Amino acid sequence: MSILYDKSSYMSQKITSNYSPNFSSIRRIKKNIKFIVYHYTGMRSETKAINWLTNVKSKVSSNYFIKRNGQIICLVPDLYISWHAGKSRWKNFRSLNKNSIGIEIVNKGHQFGYQKFSKKQISNLIKLSRFLIKKFSIKRKNILGHSDIAFNRKKDPGEKFPWQYLAKKGVGIWHNLQKKILIKARKTKIDRNYENKFYKYLRKFGYFTNKLSKKQKTNLLKAFQRRFRPELVNGKIDQECFLIAKKLSKL
Ligand SMILES: [Zn+2]
Repeated sequence: MSILYDKSSYMSQKITSNYSPNFSSIRRIKKNIKFIVYHYTGMRSETKAINWLTNVKSKVSSNYFIKRNGQIICLVPDLYISWHAGKSRWKNFRSLNKNSIGIEIVNKGHQFGYQKFSKKQISNLIKLSRFLIKKFSIKRKNILGHSDIAFNRKKDPGEKFPWQYLAKKGVGIWHNLQKKILIKARKTKIDRNYENKFYKYLRKFGYFTNKLSKKQKTNLLKAFQRRFRPELVNGKIDQECFLIAKKLSKL
């Protein structure tokens, strides 16, 4: 059992370990860790999820696992590459496993009954994230969801994940645009010219936007909405999405 430690104080949160065999055995150097990627487990039960992530046959894992009661379990130590992201892209990065810490948060997910994340999960996720951000000097913009980097395959952590709240606590970013302005812009159509600009903004922020089919564009849009406009995930661009993307491109 280890205890998260930062210079000012011991954290009360203890981390237990339950190591997974699913990792790359070559140690990475500290400075290669640039991202944190959040996931939900998307399985019927917590026990099933942890069994799967520690089963050699699954070939998947994460560095950390956060139970419904908030308990944090380390499955793969930070300096080893866990197998959580799969085929993925962000900016010029491909297959983000080698450059990231993966955190699985227990939730049945869209397939089995998507739940609100528990308060304990979120408060301990914030503590763990702050600890990792400090330890590896991770930029706020590099705190991502699985769906950001693999939007054609993944929905997690999904629209119930409290990105705005996390940003308020110094973890990740938020656009901070005024609610009033956004609601007015919701469902307001934009023309083709603005649509092109919209994708340019997303690209600048980090999303992969090259040569997307219509279906892939819808997937991207939904991933963007799940993260930054969770009130309405419809896969359609409107003026609200445009304003948010524009703001993000400048952060
Ligand atoms: Zn995931």
